Amino acid sequence: MSLADNLASIQQRIRAACERAGRDPGSVALLAVAKTQPPEVVRAAAELGLTLFGENKIQEAKAKIPLCPDRLRWHFIGHLQTNKCRDAVSLFEMIQSVDSLPLAQELQKRAEQAAKTMPILLEINVAGEGSKFGYQPERMLTEFKEIISLSRLEVHGLMAIPPFTPVPEKARPHFRRLRELREQCEQLLGAPLPHLSMGMSGDFEIAIEEGATIVRIGTALFGERSKGGVQGV
Ligand SMILES: *Cc1c(COP(=O)(O)O)cnc(C)c1O
Repeated sequence: MSLADNLASIQQRIRAACERAGRDPGSVALLAVAKTQPPEVVRAAAELGLTLFGENKIQEAKAKIPLCPDRLRWHFIGHLQTNKCRDAVSLFEMIQSVDSLPLAQELQKRAEQAAKTMPILLEINVAGEGSKFGYQPERMLTEFKEIISLSRLEVHGLMAIPPFTPVPEKARPHFRRLRELREQCEQLLGAPLPHLSMGMSGDFEIAIEEGATIVRIGTALFGERSKGGVQGV
């Protein structure tokens, strides 16, 4: 299958999931996860009309983004270390993976220095997995007011990577949980939060049925990632 075929099939599946859920297909953004893919592949995807791309490593993004078309929008979706916040603020339009108050405070400082406002999502460890990054839900709710008080950050919603399962339906409770957490945050904020970033190649249709506004898709679009590739992923 070509990239164009993969994209057409994903778009069709997004439309069908929206139809089942009674949602407008325009309310779901497709974020192309470009990790391990070279700039030529990003360019080919951009020529097919994709504009939103994701990376999960700062080093890789720093090398790749300058070689890609200018008009693209980039979101950071990986674990962010505080010593990489300056690069993250300069390279990305949104950081989807903020999972602690110290990280938010460091982003605030770097955004201030860059005279920017940084849109962010809070990444939630929805299944409470010990091995995963992401806020524990209770802790996020406790720190939410402090995070929204940071003047250079704009919280746009929540992101999650539920446990991998070959049975997509099993991810549904985790997506639902993320949606409920967003409602709790909206109450604390007193305003709507537009984004739920959830759903990957194996489970994006379920995520859309549960309210995803951004689906992050790599494999279904670009094919399997090579494990020992030059990018070191
Ligand atoms: C790699 C990655 C994806 C895409 O995963 P696929 O299963 O290849 O679609 C989505 N989100 C994050 C945070 C990732 O690291």
